[in-house]
Amino acid sequence: MDWFWVLYALIIGLCVGSFLNVVVLRGLSGESIVLPPSHCTSCNHKLAWYDNIPLFSYLVLRGKCRYCGEKISPQYPLVEFATGIIFALLYYKYSYATINLNIFFLLAAASLCIVMTVTDIKEKVILDVHAYILMGLGLVYNMFNIAGINNTKLIFWLYGHKIIIYQAFIYSILGLIGGFGVLAAIRAITKFITKKECFGEGDAYILGALGAFFGIANAIVILILSIFVWGGLSIPVFMYKWFKNKEFKLFYGVLLFIITVILFLTGEYLNVFDSLIFQWFSLLLIASLGFYCCRHLLGSIKNGSALTVIPYGPALIFGAFVVMFLL
Ligand SMILES: [Zn+2]
Repeated sequence: MDWFWVLYALIIGLCVGSFLNVVVLRGLSGESIVLPPSHCTSCNHKLAWYDNIPLFSYLVLRGKCRYCGEKISPQYPLVEFATGIIFALLYYKYSYATINLNIFFLLAAASLCIVMTVTDIKEKVILDVHAYILMGLGLVYNMFNIAGINNTKLIFWLYGHKIIIYQAFIYSILGLIGGFGVLAAIRAITKFITKKECFGEGDAYILGALGAFFGIANAIVILILSIFVWGGLSIPVFMYKWFKNKEFKLFYGVLLFIITVILFLTGEYLNVFDSLIFQWFSLLLIASLGFYCCRHLLGSIKNGSALTVIPYGPALIFGAFVVMFLL
């Protein structure tokens, strides 16, 4: 195997990761991406080239600025490392030994995903511009069917003109509208009921952009995966908060709900619930517990006993990477 090229992709990824850190930082502060040259964020000292080698400089400087000794955020080496690994894996999967246009689009999409994840975790915002670029990229990607997976073409007649479109492009537009629409609708409904902002606007933009890039079918996969990942990460945090704030109705309600669902699923698997009446009874129990939890959850949001928001954007992007690497 020619590991040289995978290693090469890793090194390019480390350098791009270093640039993505700058994009995140200056995107949030409103500075230009190109100027001024790299400087320490606490003492503003200009950095020499040897202070700027991805990953390596951080390790050599032991995470401290050479000039003022201030700690350097571990975000820098982490983003560089993650970008390096993602580039190497993408190259390994999609472009082994050949370079094609497909890999450039995928690397660009992955880079934007990394930027949006870090921005969301850092400041709990998604910058529209990042999502718009990904949307545009996705539309072009599918308009010319650069992935080349689905070569079906559709023919339309418009005022006597024959128009030929790749099917992938239709899926891309549907993914954009569907992805954006689903989350925008959920956001509007929860806002209408609770009179509070429960979802960030950015999440709808992210799913719209991912839908434009990966198509409507993958957008649904990404949505489902993200719900599981987000739920799995945030339910324990919420449970802890509810218990601490003595919101026992919610705490025990959700606990019962989870236990019932697990019992039902494992019981099904172990063939314990052979009786149909028993199955219907458990489904009824799950439904009523679910209703009970939702009612108290909405009540809790209305009362403003804050649900600390764990950003949902990174969960969506996790789904996107699963689609990129596993499908
Ligand atoms: Zn410094």
